[in-house]
Amino acid sequence: MALLQISEPGMSTAPHQHRLAVGIDLGTTNSLIATVRNSIPEVLNDEEGRPLLPSVVRYLANGHAHIGYKAQAEQSNDPKNTIISVKRFMGRGLKDIAYAEHLPYDFHDEPGMVQLKTIAGIKSPVEISAQILATLRQQAEDSLGDDLVGAVITVPAYFDDAQRQATKDAAKLAGLNVLRLLNEPTAAAIAYGLDNASEGTYAVFDLGGGTFDISILKMSKGVFEVLSTGGDSALGGDDFDHRLFCWILQEAKLAPLSDEDTRLLMTKAREAKEILSSKTSTHIDAKLLSGESVHLQIQASTFVEMTQNLVLKTITPCRKALRDAGLSIEDIDGVVLVGGATRMPQVRKAVSELFQTTPLANIDPDKVVALGAAIQANLLAGNRAAGEDWLLLDVIPLSLGIETMGGLAEKVIPRNSTIPCARAQEFTTFKDGQTALAIHVVQGERELVSDCRSLARFELRGIPPMAAGAARIRITYQVDADGLLSVSARELRSGVETSITVKPSYGLADGEVARMLQDSFTSAEGDMKMRALKEEQVEAERILLATQSALSSDAGLLSEAEQSTIAGLMNQVSELTNQNDLDALHAAIKALADGTEEFAARRMDQSVRSALAGKKLDDIS
Ligand code: ADP
Ligand code: MG
Repeated sequence: MALLQISEPGMSTAPHQHRLAVGIDLGTTNSLIATVRNSIPEVLNDEEGRPLLPSVVRYLANGHAHIGYKAQAEQSNDPKNTIISVKRFMGRGLKDIAYAEHLPYDFHDEPGMVQLKTIAGIKSPVEISAQILATLRQQAEDSLGDDLVGAVITVPAYFDDAQRQATKDAAKLAGLNVLRLLNEPTAAAIAYGLDNASEGTYAVFDLGGGTFDISILKMSKGVFEVLSTGGDSALGGDDFDHRLFCWILQEAKLAPLSDEDTRLLMTKAREAKEILSSKTSTHIDAKLLSGESVHLQIQASTFVEMTQNLVLKTITPCRKALRDAGLSIEDIDGVVLVGGATRMPQVRKAVSELFQTTPLANIDPDKVVALGAAIQANLLAGNRAAGEDWLLLDVIPLSLGIETMGGLAEKVIPRNSTIPCARAQEFTTFKDGQTALAIHVVQGERELVSDCRSLARFELRGIPPMAAGAARIRITYQVDADGLLSVSARELRSGVETSITVKPSYGLADGEVARMLQDSFTSAEGDMKMRALKEEQVEAERILLATQSALSSDAGLLSEAEQSTIAGLMNQVSELTNQNDLDALHAAIKALADGTEEFAARRMDQSVRSALAGKKLDDIS
């Protein structure tokens, strides 16, 4: 998705009316909440001064929960009831979760989203995330002492509609008013001021606790567009901890460990890893429950060596994301570092070498997403300084259209339209006496419905019977600020109406969006020909139906010879309808239209005569 700046008149507020809004980075490993105070974005710390909240929730037998550091510390004692990385389960069914069988949880496979059986009952990922969000909200209200007007919550750029919807639901459950969901790489770019300062193409390199995401963003004429995304959902800081943990086992010659000792040493490994980002060596000291103890010293160079291939694993997805965007290294104007694990110097070095530029890293990489979200939230809440009278808006990545006769896709909202937006188009009935209309909502750039993605089908029923073409059906497409589409159809003469809400980007990864666009460019010419043929076939069917209907009521106006001439012309059209000869079909349709001109004139005379029957000239002039 992309972002556009537009000015919204009358949204500026006086300084004393500052409205409190927050940005939330709901992370897999850690979550943060930030706000803008006196024009400066800042992360709101907890009461002990800690900016991060580990995204961990432990459920207790009494129905309560421990959240954050406390839950993280208890994780090894109670793995079944201590949920980590719940973000991986958001909007996902059991079959979508990799390694589900290796996780300590008691999954409960529900249609839709997976649920977890805990000592405090069955919990959905939405509820668990809501616990984290509610904790952050409390943290913000404690330090700001006011009620929040709303929050911007970040999600990975590749999150599909189900995952986005689940995130929104969690926020609502936590009592937050969601101003907008924002893509994480876009939030990071906003924090660096790339939204209003620079034109160019940026790579956002995000190495978190358990996931690696690379996004290529393009900024031009005020529009932010995610050109491609990629990454590795099973690569992050945790893997570096694990390497160091294995090294400790080896160096200290330890026997197989209990779960508690494993957890303890993993924590020690993480601490050492984080220290080695800024020191050339450190000590690892631990007293295990088994009675053994560990006293080791490790050099940063040793750690770099043992994690070299993990660093290398980030490079391939970067190259692939560039390729998907149709770009090469030289096209990248800058790189933004996101995620705590990008603090490691060896990661920074690899990124610099690959992109041949020093990455932007002066904003804390684990705060940058929350800070960008706070800036966006502040604007959406209506707090803006003079000269800042603009809003960031998303655009839809693929056109939204409707199926028309002949299997053609008619675009109702073209791609890259800024959202929220609404467009209406009028359609009519095809057959005499048609009382229902099937509406098929599609997404994509191609001309044929079969090449687009089907989003929803519904029917408008109860149209009063009328002649073909007499009904006026207005179909309205409306996309809200979060990209959710609703479609309504209304027959204007009778007022019959129906509507449906669909999810336009459901399950579409950005790679797929790119592929669908690519397909539409490469097949544009073939599509145009196919479209012309389909349109002619629809026209053929229409003229046959109309002629048939005229004959059945007014055949008496024609001589037998005339009737058989028309029948011959109809046959010709009907035979050519299913062949792929556009020119021949076009000629046959024209012949039929010409051949029935006289018939149409006689019918017209007759209807005028019957309408005027019994009326004096004065009445009608
Ligand atoms: P997520 O986006 O998955 O919630 P974060 O961006 O908070 O994750 O990153 C968490 C990871 O960053 C953890 O693996 C943590 O150990 C690592 N990390 C944090 N600080 C440092 C540091 N100074 N050096 C190396 N790794 C760090
Ligand atoms: Mg993150």
